[in-house]
Amino acid sequence: MMSKEGSAIKLIKERSMPIKLKQLRAIHARLTPTHTSYKIIYHELTKRELGLQGERTLDYHLQFLNDDFNIIHDLRMNGINQTLFQIDTLILCPQFISIIEVKNIAGSIHFEQTSGQMIRKLHDRVESLPNPLTQIHRQQIQLQHFLLNHQFPSIPIKTLITFSNPTTLIETDHPSIVRTEFLPSKLEKLQSQFPEKKLKATDLNKLVDCLKNAHVPERTYPLETYSIKPSDLRKGVDCPSCNHPHMTRSKKNGSWYCIRCKHFSKTAHLHAIEQFSTILDKKLTNKEARTYLSIDSRHTAYRLLKEFEGTQ
Ligand SMILES: [Zn+2]
Repeated sequence: MMSKEGSAIKLIKERSMPIKLKQLRAIHARLTPTHTSYKIIYHELTKRELGLQGERTLDYHLQFLNDDFNIIHDLRMNGINQTLFQIDTLILCPQFISIIEVKNIAGSIHFEQTSGQMIRKLHDRVESLPNPLTQIHRQQIQLQHFLLNHQFPSIPIKTLITFSNPTTLIETDHPSIVRTEFLPSKLEKLQSQFPEKKLKATDLNKLVDCLKNAHVPERTYPLETYSIKPSDLRKGVDCPSCNHPHMTRSKKNGSWYCIRCKHFSKTAHLHAIEQFSTILDKKLTNKEARTYLSIDSRHTAYRLLKEFEGTQ
């Protein structure tokens, strides 16, 4: 990542496309709208797509940080009493560490002091949403515990909630809440407020490595979560040209053929294999490939799976 001065910011761990979002996209594409879980899948998918947009906006603005800052995305670690905790964006510099949570929410946002609720008003609708300040406070405690456990010097941990949607009206002056475009200046201001370098360069590098090594990759089984049977998923290879759901395998030239738009494709199966292996979170067996791609030949399934593995 390049900063505005052209010097490199240390982006330690890049943001990966969240596995849950990938799975929801694939299930959404493979589930019929009449399925009892379709609505919840659609709702979850929309929420996570908005989240990803927010994170991309954040990443854009983080480019403008000075090069004292190290950025680590998507950390998932073991915390207090075997609980897992997740930090979307962690920013480290010698003076302090900042946990950042990005929210992409439309409407006007108001924080109620007494009840601790976050209230969102949108088109005359008022609803209470989970308060990100509570959530991020827990992450702060977990991270403090992690640093102590790994014997790192004590360093201030600042939590920041950032709203990425420029149309959101934020009705609070809470110091931990900042619009995404002002985040770089907020972090640099914090740097001048905490002038003391708590971590030497070697400690900072050690901490970065330690955090990266502590990352626990996530495995999820959405079919179980959303009560979907593998047999509920629509099978077959979709036409990349018109989305027709059942291309047929032409034995003559080893291509997929679409009876609707007459399109031939040699690679249309790759997307289908990707979708099913994402949903199941594993490599497809030969039998599964035959079932999900709607083909009979064990030999063809073997070849198509090999080809898919070559693209990974
Ligand atoms: Zn077609």
